[in-house]
Amino acid sequence: MDIKTSFDARFARIELDLVQKAREFASRHLDIPGPISISAHRLLLQDACRSGLAGIEVPANFGGASASFSTRMRVCEELALLHAGFAFSLVNHHNVVSRIAQSQDSEARRRLIEAMLDGSRIGCTAMTEPQSGSDFTAMRTEALPTQDGWILSGAKAWITNASLADVFLVYAQTDAAKGADGVAGFIVLADDIGFERGHPYSAAGIEGMGVGQFTLTKCAIPNDRLLYPPGEGFRAAMRGVNQARVHVAAMNAAMVEYALAVSLNYAGSRQAFGAPVIEFQGLGWSLANVATHLQAMRLLTYSAADAIDAREDAQSMAAMAKKYANDTTMQAISACMQAMGAQGITEDARLGRLLAWAKAFCYTDGTPEMMNERILRYMRKARRNGP
Ligand SMILES: Cc1cc2nc3c(=O)[nH]c(=O)nc-3n(C[C@H](O)[C@H](O)[C@H](O)COP(=O)(O)OP(=O)(O)OC[C@H]3O[C@@H](n4cnc5c(N)ncnc54)[C@H](O)[C@@H]3O)c2cc1C
Repeated sequence: MDIKTSFDARFARIELDLVQKAREFASRHLDIPGPISISAHRLLLQDACRSGLAGIEVPANFGGASASFSTRMRVCEELALLHAGFAFSLVNHHNVVSRIAQSQDSEARRRLIEAMLDGSRIGCTAMTEPQSGSDFTAMRTEALPTQDGWILSGAKAWITNASLADVFLVYAQTDAAKGADGVAGFIVLADDIGFERGHPYSAAGIEGMGVGQFTLTKCAIPNDRLLYPPGEGFRAAMRGVNQARVHVAAMNAAMVEYALAVSLNYAGSRQAFGAPVIEFQGLGWSLANVATHLQAMRLLTYSAADAIDAREDAQSMAAMAKKYANDTTMQAISACMQAMGAQGITEDARLGRLLAWAKAFCYTDGTPEMMNERILRYMRKARRNGP
């Protein structure tokens, strides 16, 4: 039994159905060879939402499936087999829906969740700014309290889905002197006065992610759209990032699985010196290395997902899973391309864009350097606490 099948064996019926739905959705809609327009991207997101793929972890009383984090991760992985960019876009939307559903209940929030579950409104999460990414608390977007709400001003950069989203989970500083404790989270809507969407980014590896930017100029947000009060914003953001790191690792694994299958197929039939090229040990061993990295990637990723579902502290495990995936995926895809000779770099082979996505995933939800920082912090803590 392969590792994915044995991992899925623990799932309840409803969870297995969601993974199967993702597989079907991918084969029906995600076999897309090139870039997709913003309007086509929106329609795809809507279709995925209507298949129930945006409510996996959302509680049933809000219209979701109340399924596990592992289910969401496996759904991402299945979608990423054919389109990692779209998988990342959808999971970012899902993340905002589940966060709103976990917050204080209100009629307005219920209406928002309903619209996001059916894909008529798309969400994104905005932490990064033009001058700061890894150093999250160096943000300059500020939120000043008023009698009945907050006034937000600032700029956000490199935000997945921002070029098409309607609902923005925006982190802002309420009191710079408090650092992390001053960070709060707000729901901003695209039609709020003072919100202005910037141009989508044009860069390698962001196909299907809708990566964009926006500014807020004295944007008035009522109190009932304060999702995380000061003191809770930073911790909430870090919790989300932790889960996202595991998704990203799973999506990397899916890309390596795809590249390996394509290259094995090719190397098994391509002849050189009177034999299929896979028969040459020098080449075959490079693919054996890829298969080994893929297995290791999944073992790390799935054990981090298990820890998240068990509500254990998964910070270090999630960082290790993402770091390992970031460190090995580009090398693995490149080896698969190499095994296909010049054919490996053609658009038909579709491996070049996997390489670009793999590079982009080295930035999303924290760089490998920041993963090392996180892992090291845990090692220091363990050393201080002794055996
Ligand atoms: C495709 C894509 C999608 C994204 N989506 C989102 C999104 O939806 N929401 C969002 O908020 N952000 C998003 N981001 C932004 C992403 O989170 C940041 O790019 C990332 O956090 C790194 O920040 P930076 O690019 O500003 O690099 P910087 O923080 O400026 O870092 C520059 C370099 O210095 C290194 N560095 C920094 N500090 C240290 C340190 N202490 N030790 C060692 N090295 C260090 C970094 O690792 C990096 O190599 C996205 C980015 C991309 C590319």
